[in-house]
This record gives sequence, C-alpha cells and structure tokens, in this order.
Amino acid sequence: MNETAPLWHAMSAQDAAKRLDTDPERGLSSGEAAERLRQHGPNALPVRKGKSALTRFLLQFHQPLVYILLAAGVITALLGEVVDSSVILGVVLVNAVIGYLQESKAVRALSALSATMTTEATVLRDGAPVRLDAAALVPGDVVILRSGDKTPADVRILSSRELRSDESMLTGESLPVEKSADPVSPDAVLAERRSMAFAGALVTYGQGRAVVAATGAGTELGRISSLMESADELETPLTRKISRFSHLLLVAILVLAGLNFALGLWRGETAVDMFMASVALAVGAIPEGLPAAVTIILAIGVSRMAARRAVIRRLPAVETLGSVTVICTDKTGTLTENQMTVHSLWAAGVEALVGGTGYAPEGEITAPGGLSAAHRECLLAGLLCNDAVLRAPGEPGGNGAPSATWRVEGDPSEAALLVSAAKAGLSRAEEQAAWPRVDELAFESERQYMATLHKNADEAVIWLKGSVERVLERCGQALAADGTLEPLDAAAVTRKTEELAARGLRVLAFAKGTPAPDAAALEHEDVALGLVFLGLQGMIDPPRAEAVDAVAACRRAGVLVKMITGDHAGTAVAIGRMLGLSGPSCEADGHCRALTGAELARLSDAQFAAEARAVSVFARVSPEQKLRLVRALQAQGEVVAMTGDGVNDAPALKQADIGVAMGQAGTDAAKEAADMVLTDDNFASIAAAVEEGRGVFDNLVKFIAWTLPTNLGEGMVILTAFLFGVALPILPVQILWINMTTAAALGLMLSFEPKEPGIMDRAPRAPGKPILDRLLAGRIALVGALLLVTAFGLFEYELSRGASLEQARTVAVNVFVLVETAYLFNARSFRRSPFALGFFSNPWASWGAGLMLALQGAYTYVPAMNALFQSAPLAPRQWPLVLGSAVAVFLLVEIEKKLRNGLRRTASASHST
Ligand code: ADP
Ligand code: MG
Repeated sequence: MNETAPLWHAMSAQDAAKRLDTDPERGLSSGEAAERLRQHGPNALPVRKGKSALTRFLLQFHQPLVYILLAAGVITALLGEVVDSSVILGVVLVNAVIGYLQESKAVRALSALSATMTTEATVLRDGAPVRLDAAALVPGDVVILRSGDKTPADVRILSSRELRSDESMLTGESLPVEKSADPVSPDAVLAERRSMAFAGALVTYGQGRAVVAATGAGTELGRISSLMESADELETPLTRKISRFSHLLLVAILVLAGLNFALGLWRGETAVDMFMASVALAVGAIPEGLPAAVTIILAIGVSRMAARRAVIRRLPAVETLGSVTVICTDKTGTLTENQMTVHSLWAAGVEALVGGTGYAPEGEITAPGGLSAAHRECLLAGLLCNDAVLRAPGEPGGNGAPSATWRVEGDPSEAALLVSAAKAGLSRAEEQAAWPRVDELAFESERQYMATLHKNADEAVIWLKGSVERVLERCGQALAADGTLEPLDAAAVTRKTEELAARGLRVLAFAKGTPAPDAAALEHEDVALGLVFLGLQGMIDPPRAEAVDAVAACRRAGVLVKMITGDHAGTAVAIGRMLGLSGPSCEADGHCRALTGAELARLSDAQFAAEARAVSVFARVSPEQKLRLVRALQAQGEVVAMTGDGVNDAPALKQADIGVAMGQAGTDAAKEAADMVLTDDNFASIAAAVEEGRGVFDNLVKFIAWTLPTNLGEGMVILTAFLFGVALPILPVQILWINMTTAAALGLMLSFEPKEPGIMDRAPRAPGKPILDRLLAGRIALVGALLLVTAFGLFEYELSRGASLEQARTVAVNVFVLVETAYLFNARSFRRSPFALGFFSNPWASWGAGLMLALQGAYTYVPAMNALFQSAPLAPRQWPLVLGSAVAVFLLVEIEKKLRNGLRRTASASHST
C-alpha cells in the first residue's frame, strides 16, 4: 500500500495539507474528525503479540530437569514399568500446565499495566488546541509537537522551530535529526525525510506543528511493529541467578547419580533399581520450581505497587526497589503540591502582598501607596508571556467535563501568574487583543526562561520571564515606580530574591524588551542583552502533607532523600526544611546546606563524590549534572532511585537503578526511559513502592528458605539410602508428588504474606549481600537435617516393626509433607514467631495447609492413588509419629529463632557499650 501512498515528504507543506483536506491554522472540525475516525479506525498498532500460547506451553518443557524426567519416563516404559512411567510423564505434563498457567497470569498482569501507558497528543480541533489520547488521531489532524513528546503518528511538518527528533528506533541513526517544513527529494530514504516525523519517535528539542499523514498500522512503525520486542520479558537478575544455580546443581547431581549408579551395579544391585534411585536423587535435590515461583512473586509485587500508584515498567525493578538506599527526587510537583499561588509582587523596590488562595482570582493586592506602574507592568508580563489556561468553575475543559472548581491547563507556575494579574483587574482577553503575540521562545529547563514577541499597529514588545539569575544578566535598566527607566540595582534584586526564597517562595523575574519595529520572529540572541527589569513575583507551593510523612518514613528506613531541583537554592532549602529533610549536611532543625549547579561544576571528581553523598539539597541543577550525581552515588555502592520529567532527564533515568517518571507532568521521553511511572506524581508513592519492594523481596526469600530444605532433605535421604545400601524411603514419583503439591498448595501462599510490621524501620538490604544470609542458610541446613532424621528414621522404624515397604514409604512421604506444612508457618517470618504475627493472619497459608492435608489424606487412603503412587493406607497408630515429627520440627525452629534473637541482642548490646 505504501507504493501508492502520496510522497508526503516531497510535496510542499501547503500541498500536503490540501491533499489531507485540512486547515493548517484551525485543524479539523470535531465532526470531520469523528467521521475520519470511523473511516480509518483508531490510531493504534495492532496489539503486540508476544510468544504464542503454544510456544509458551512448549517452552515449559525446555528445562534440563524436564529433559531428565522425560528420559526417565521413556526408559522406565522400556523397562516395562508402565505405571511409573505414566506417572512420571503425567507429572511432567501437569507441571507444564501449572507453569504455563502461572506464567500467563504474570504476563497478563504485566501487559495490563503496559496498556495503561497511553500517549497523549496536542491537537488542533475546531481551531483550538486540545489534549487527546493519541489513539483518537486521524489523517488531517494538525498536531503540536514539543520537546519531550512522542510523535503520535506519521506527520508532515508544517512549521518547525529547531524541532529535533530521535528516530533511532526506525532508522538506527543515533543522533536526533533536525526537522523542517521544506520538501525533500522524492526518493529520500526514511532517515533523510526531514519534512516528516514518524510515529514513536521522541521529540528531543524545539517545537513544531505538523499534519497527520498516516495513523496506526499505516505508519512506518506499524510496518515494522512485528519486529519489536515482545512485552512478556519475565527474566530478572534474580531468576537468572537461580536458574544458573539450578543448572550447576543439576550437573553436580548427575555426576553424583552416575557415580552411585556405577557403585550400585558393582555392589550387585539391578540396573533398574539403581536407575530409579539416580532419577530420584536428581528429581529431589533440584529446586526446579524456583525460578517460576520467583517470577510469580515479583508479578504479584507489580500489582501491589500499581495499587499504590507506582506502575512498574520492567520486572527487575520490583526486585531492586527493596534495596534502594538513596532517592533523588524533584521538588516541584513531587515533594510539593504544584498548586502555585502568588503571594508577593515586588517592583521598583516596593513589595505588594497578594491575598487569596488557590486558582480562584479572588483576593486583594495591598501595597504601601497602591500599585505602581512597575507593579502593573510586571503583572502584565506574567499575563502575556504565558501559555497556561485558567478555567472557571462550570466551564468545560479542552477535553473533559466541566468541574466545580477553578482549574488549570498547562504549567501551574504560569497559571498562578494569570491569577495574580486577574486580582489586579487585568483582563487577559483585552490585553491579548491589544498585544497580539507573533512569536515565542518556549520555556526549556536548561535555559530557565521563556519569552514572547507581541506586536500591534504601532509597537512591538518582548516580554520575558524566568529565573532571577537568567533575567538579571539580560537587563541593564529597571522600570521605576512612575514608569520611567532607571539604572538596575542588581544587588537589591538578589537580596530581595533571597529574602523571598527563604520564605519558601518560588521566585520568577520579569523583563521587557523593545525589538526592531519590523521584527517578525524571536531568536534567543534577541533577548540576550539590553532588557528592562520589571520585577519579581514570589509564589508559594506548599509541601505535600504525604511527602512530609514519606520523608520521615524514608529516614527511619535508612533511605537518604535528596532534593534535586531547577529552582533557586533559597527556595529549595526552605521547602527542604518544611519537609524535614535530613542528612550529614543538615542541622537538627532541618536546615540543609544547599549546593547549586554552578558550585557543582567547579568541584573536582573527588570533591563531587563526597558532596554527592553528603548534601541533601541540590538547586539550579542541570539534567547532565543529575546524570553525574547518579553515577557518583552508584560508584560509592548506593542503589539510586532518581525522578525526572523532561527529555534531558532520560539519560539519568536510564542510569539510575530505578528511574522514576511522572505520569502526569512527565514527558513521553522520560516515561519511556523509566523503570517506574508514578500515576500521581507524588513522592509518597516512591516511598510506598520501596516499602512494597521490601515486602516482595522478603516474601521471595521466605519462599526460598521454605522450599530448599525439602530438596536438601530429599537429596540426603536418597544418598543415605545409597550409602547404606538399603531400600529407598521415597520413590521418584513420590518425590514428584511431594515437590509439586507442596509448591502449589503451600509455597505459593507465602507470596500473599502481608508485609511484616517494621519493614520500613530497618536498613536497606546491602546490594552485594547474598540472598541467603547465615541465618537462613543455617535454618535450611537445620530443617533439611531434621527431615532426614525423621523421614529416614521413621521409615526404618516402621520396617523394623513389620510394616510393608509401601506403608513405610507412605509414612516417610507424610513426614515430608506435614513437616513442610508446619515449617510453612515458621517460614512466615525470619525472626518473629507466627504467633506474634497472628497465626492465621495469612488466610492463604491456612487454606493451603488445609488443602494439603486433604490431598495427603487422598494420597494415603484413596485406592487409585495407592495404585499410582505405590502408597498404602496408614494405621491409626502411625499418625502420632508423623504428626509428632511435624510439631517437633516446628518447635525446634521456633527455639532456634529465639536463641538467635537472644544472641543478636547480646551482640548488639556489647556493640553499643
Ligand atoms: P523545578 O521544576 O525543579 O522547580 P524547573 O527546571 O522547572 O525546576 O525550573 C527552573 C527555574 O526556571 C524555576 O526556578 C523558574 O525560575 C524558571 N521557570 C520555571 N518555569 C518557568 C516558566 N514556565 N517560564 C519561565 N521560567 C520558568
Ligand atoms: Mg519544573
């Protein structure tokens, strides 16, 4: 179809707009857009298909252990052991089905989340810009592109101001490409079509306007989307580590089994018996279900975090979150409400106080001697050098229902300026009519200013607003109270700025310039010098109440919180104090020493590293410095979470262990680079995710610590039987039964374990620390040994009392299962007793235990099961022995916990004295 598609890139912008039957200035009408949407369908790619269900199912068999089982099944069949063979093969099948179901659940959880990450686009409809879900775009729509946006469709550029776009995913070209409206040669390849921007490409700089030429599957991205990575990546560093460990174990066990096979043959055992015993060893000692279980536990973590407004984009992030040691966070909007209200207006040396709260334009402005001409000019600059929209209660937004309160579209700082101007009686409509805007330089974080060019019949004016430093360096004169010009007293402005900042106000400065009367466009050089300083406006942006609590929680949890902001150092320090930031550079009253970007730039690498660690407030920081900060912290062994919202934050987000993007204020570029997206832009959600991460990691370790003793016990039972040349207490199919039923009915229940109290009162997990510390390794060895003693001992005891081999084995299997059931309750906490947690506080574990007992009843008493698994009904006399073993193990583990806790207390007591 692309053969016949028009060569949009080669025709002029006007021709493209004409062929697409659209008005470049007004866009489509909503009626026309709806009609075209019916015709073309939504602007969405066909759902990305991951691996097919069949492939995923077959992959369940692609594991070394399953190969061994399959071989064992075939060989036992050849040996004529039909029942054994079919049980082994049946178990392999059931195992694959369970694995498949669990994995599908994990994949579904993840893809449901990625589906919530929709792209929005700014579109001209009926002549006005609106924010829409990108799926609603149709050919002919006129879209506005700004740095940070993801290009929503294949578009023909209509106008460009330094518009640059990163199309590496389409063209492989790693540098951003500059776009312009000029047509290119008809046979230009994709990478050279500079008059086009393609769906999925990130706008890295500048701004522009473009008309949609192709949507959905018709885009270049749509044509290659089948090549894109699938979303169901379930591997994490931890599961990889565990798989490697299992493989290693497998090799070791195969060697051991081989040796024993030879040994047994030499001793005169039959080949069949020895073969079955070797299989039993391999099956028993390998924790085959572990990687899958870990994935499931992590996937459950993903949904828990989503419930707390942290959307995980990469599964490994769940694992890492629990060990985060430093959170570097934005101030504006993340730690603060981003609900700006101007409190102070300062011009010509006189401060006026602005009353009122929120965005309602109600409140008095009081100044000694009334508002001067300079005050008014300062308010006018804020009103006209402004892209925000204020919506009155009841007025429908660009894209949504009317709301009951005053609402803001766009930058809250700018909205606050609209409100302060309105409080002085300035009308935006009138002023805009008197001063039509002809061009603008949009705000970019690195430049810290925004400027607009206005022109009417007689005059042209530039208004500029930005950070005080950037504005002062452009001004030579200032506006006096009577509206005349006077020399600028920069020191006085700086003093006033610091005073306002110390009150926690966010300060913007305003200036005015006179361009050549024929100027039609604005360039950065035009505002470099010779402007007239107008004044300052200081706005409050109160800290979020939840952020204050979350900062305190992080402090208890041993997680350092660093504020990294583009704002003024004074403002940052004042807000830091309200938040209760702490750290080596902070005093007890919460006053932290701040470091600015300019100061950072002067530091040597060694000084930089030391300050990166010590300082909690960084102000006027550039995105590149964020990257350097992350690196410096990581080099010192910290696990760093870093927030960001702009395009230029993407490298820092990628470098951080956990890159955090803002769901509302963040650009698409930042979201794409992030591991986690906050749907409410709130710092508290990062702390919540860390808390959940710790809980998930705990559950993971609990599961591992619960499951390994079984493998250890089974392996040792078989080896011991080998060594003494006695009958196997448990057969391979019985081991399969134990491992499978307990993993599903018991082990997985640990993934629903609620977080232990005090989870945020302990230090973060050391990053290099092995998963199993001495405590857990010791406990695993203890329980493994107890399993060996009880199962093997009772097996031999029953034989000596004249029980049948089947009955003795049934006792051994029941010992394994019941000990594991009891140990499940031990395993619910590393150090606390289950009674301290509330014995039944995890209902899943209780239900699982009940289910397990029922299964074991069937295993023991149902004739069909007896036939399949060579089990036999037990006599009432035998149960107390089995139950006694379980209770004994449970009590011994609890005693071990107590002893260790006691040791730890004495150790820490002797430490502190
Ligand atoms: P942060 O979001 O961390 O406060 P930003 O990079 O957004 O930092 O802003 C840095 C500085 O740029 C602000 O302190 C302010 O002085 C200035 N600034 C912010 N927004 C605007 C804007 N819309 N127009 C002009 N200047 C702005
Ligand atoms: Mg900002």
